Amino acid sequence: MYRRDTLTVGVDGDSADRVIDQVREWIDSSNRLVVLSGAGISTDSGIPDFRGPQGVWTKNPEAEKMATISYYLSDPELRKRAWRSRLESAGRQVDPNAGHLALVRLEQRGVLHAIVTQNIDELHQRAGNDPERVIELHGTMRWTQCWSCGDRQPMDEVLDRVRAGEDDPCCLAVIDDRRCSGILKSATISFGQNLDPHTLMRAEEAARSADLLLAVGSSLVVHPAAGLVPLASRAGARVVIVNGEETAYDHLADAVLNGPIGAILPALVEGA
Ligand code: NAD
Ligand code: ZN
Repeated sequence: MYRRDTLTVGVDGDSADRVIDQVREWIDSSNRLVVLSGAGISTDSGIPDFRGPQGVWTKNPEAEKMATISYYLSDPELRKRAWRSRLESAGRQVDPNAGHLALVRLEQRGVLHAIVTQNIDELHQRAGNDPERVIELHGTMRWTQCWSCGDRQPMDEVLDRVRAGEDDPCCLAVIDDRRCSGILKSATISFGQNLDPHTLMRAEEAARSADLLLAVGSSLVVHPAAGLVPLASRAGARVVIVNGEETAYDHLADAVLNGPIGAILPALVEGA
């Protein structure tokens, strides 16, 4: 076991270049780099995170309810608000940013084994990462899923029904000659819902087999996703954390880079 001697820097501090050089060396010599990404990698694309300074919950604590399964299932008014908010999100143009593109370059260089993401925006795939390498722990908002029968439909098609006047569209699947009529939600994991066991297993395998785990843009407080950091660390991986503020696992990291992801990730990947 190598000595854990955490290097923590803000990107504009004096020692930042030294730490970036060090992490770049670790990346260059890695054979199995696993990225764990969170909402912070997508804020530069215009998607707010939950807990950052500009986060949805920081500004509006009520929004937490919308992402909590028990409230969603029991409150039709909250579901109507959720559908209106999905409609608004779908109307916004969202593109991958420099952080996502840096991870594509890592894959092109053959270093990247997997991206385990907490994000539901599919921006890693749209940036150009191989979808087979992207493990979506919390599902995707590009699909809907019926709470009763599990039927999945493209989000765009259900949003068309909302545009046409249905404020809480229900499931249209027909089971035993009867319409299911179950509650629809995005095919994402809300708080209070279990993760898909197969997806979680793939993520754990990736973390366990990593020689370098790069956690990017997550406060690392949502479990079981955050638990992949100690899991990788216990299995012998180096841990590097890139985030704008401190995270729950900074103490486990070999290096913590505090600063804008859109600047740090390209700096870590560039020129190697
Ligand atoms: P989080 O909101 O808990 O933490 C995001 C972290 O990123 C914060 O610490 C914040 O300071 C940091 N950050 C934000 N923008 C940054 C930037 N440009 N540079 C550096 N740091 C930056 O996010 P989380 O841990 O991923 O958990 C939120 C949960 O909500 C996830 O489970 C996810 O499923 C969901 N979520 C997803 C999206 C998305 O798909 N884009 C957006 C919001 C929430
Ligand atoms: Zn159904």
